[in-house]
Amino acid sequence: MCGIVAILNTTRYEDSVKQTISALERMEYRGYDSSGIAFIDKEHTLHRICSVGKINNLYTKCSSIDGTCSAIVGHTRWATHGIVTVENAHPQVTGNIAIVHNGIIENYNELKNIVNEPFTSNTDSEIISQLIFHYMKTGMTFKNAFLKTITMLEGSYAVAAICSDCPTTMLGAKKGSPLVVGSDQNHIYMASDAVALSQMTPNITYLEENDVIVAEQGSFQILENGTQQIHRNSVPNTISTENIDKGEYEDFMIKEINEEPAAVSNAYNKFKCSVNIEKYSTIHMIACGSSHYVCILAKYIIEKQKKIRIITEIASEFRYRCPVLNKDTLYVFVSQSGETSDTLGAMRLVLSQNMDTLAIVNVQESSIAREAKHCIYTNAGVEIGVASTKTFVSQLVTLLLTAGIDIPVMEVCKSINKVLNNTKNIFSTAQTLIKHKTLLFIGRGVCYPIAMEGALKIKEITYTPTEGYPSGEIKHGPIAIVDNTVCSVVIAINDDLYEKTMSNMEEIKARGGNIVTIGYKSNNICIDDEEMPSIFASITAVHMLAYYAAKLKNLDVDKPRNLAKSVTVE
Ligand code: GLU
Repeated sequence: MCGIVAILNTTRYEDSVKQTISALERMEYRGYDSSGIAFIDKEHTLHRICSVGKINNLYTKCSSIDGTCSAIVGHTRWATHGIVTVENAHPQVTGNIAIVHNGIIENYNELKNIVNEPFTSNTDSEIISQLIFHYMKTGMTFKNAFLKTITMLEGSYAVAAICSDCPTTMLGAKKGSPLVVGSDQNHIYMASDAVALSQMTPNITYLEENDVIVAEQGSFQILENGTQQIHRNSVPNTISTENIDKGEYEDFMIKEINEEPAAVSNAYNKFKCSVNIEKYSTIHMIACGSSHYVCILAKYIIEKQKKIRIITEIASEFRYRCPVLNKDTLYVFVSQSGETSDTLGAMRLVLSQNMDTLAIVNVQESSIAREAKHCIYTNAGVEIGVASTKTFVSQLVTLLLTAGIDIPVMEVCKSINKVLNNTKNIFSTAQTLIKHKTLLFIGRGVCYPIAMEGALKIKEITYTPTEGYPSGEIKHGPIAIVDNTVCSVVIAINDDLYEKTMSNMEEIKARGGNIVTIGYKSNNICIDDEEMPSIFASITAVHMLAYYAAKLKNLDVDKPRNLAKSVTVE
């Protein structure tokens, strides 16, 4: 989601505008709707420049300014409170204070009673600059006003603040949203993502919950809970910007779909299991979005092959329904970014009751990876496309291996490659889909979660109303929507449910609905017969289908509207 960058020039004034905007660009993949910077110049004047839309608009606005400054903060916003406007973009400024914020301040309305200045935005975040400004007016130092403000905030935040009356100080704090800090001889940096600092500092420190950063007089301190100074280890910032390149491809999404065979073999070859799942009577898998569908798919395969009881659940529901936890259960949290707010919240609930947790994540050193008792990385490599693709197959491999199910990797990759080379048929199937107002993806057994994944991808990048449903369930309701404006995508592999799905397909046809098929004996997108390879190949097929449908509609597949990559708000 939104990105934060902050730079303190510790030895001299420097023009840091380009560097800040480039760092924001490296976080573009997280999804955003507006962006901005604020910096303190030689005369100790605070400048704020913001724009809506692409970061390029911010570049244009900044192209002729002198950005020589002592400190600068930058932000890409994914609006939660207040529509997308220049006023609502960050940095939010009150008087001599500029702040950038990622997260949600839940009690912002209540806190408004404390301050006197008129508000210039509709954001929840402005309360932070307002409170700091307010407490400084009562005589507090910038640092103390910041510390006081932080204690007042409920909700989640990664925040960076600068003050034009204290041009050599930069402050930051973290609760519920990620924040990293790094430095070199002439600068101190903060950012919400290590990738932002990839060309700036070789080492970074990941902050822990409730940490506060105080950067002044050329160095920085980390204060645990905003009070006691604490040492936190730094780690090499290994993220390379080479991975954030489209190469020969038109979009990150198609590049990443083409990386699905590599994602399967990397997840397989680099798999390192740190947990013996045989000692648990139940595995409870908790995730959001596509990761949740991977869990359902893994459940179908693992329960059938290994007879291990598996429960799957959506994180945002789990965390607030007062679940009854069990010592015999292993709680598994699946997240690409390792920062998914709901999944992290659900995991913290489980950790607070001393239950065993296993994280399955892609991003190393992410919050979920660091806080879980056990962690297995999916090793899919950097995924930039907002709609996840290669992550799905790597998560599936990892979950199956964790349960002790071996995967015929060569055959799986061969079958995926056949789909990747079948662009002609997939493209013409996509042409059929886009002629319809509504789509229905159906499948039984393992094809049911694949149908839901296909429907989700179509929704995410083509904005077409689409249902993902179990084939056997459509007669209990969804079949009522069927007419010739609806196209159903029937997914059926060569398993013992094939004939039953074919019957459900006939039921749709009999009611005038249009059909395309993916799988065994399909005239549209034919998939290999073997069960495990055909599961993986069907996943790649629904990803490709959604991709071409979106391209045919001329949509931005990498940055679909309203969505963000790393969902750090609940
Ligand atoms: N809640 C804040 C806003 O809507 C910050 C959103 C973000 O994380 O980008 O402005």
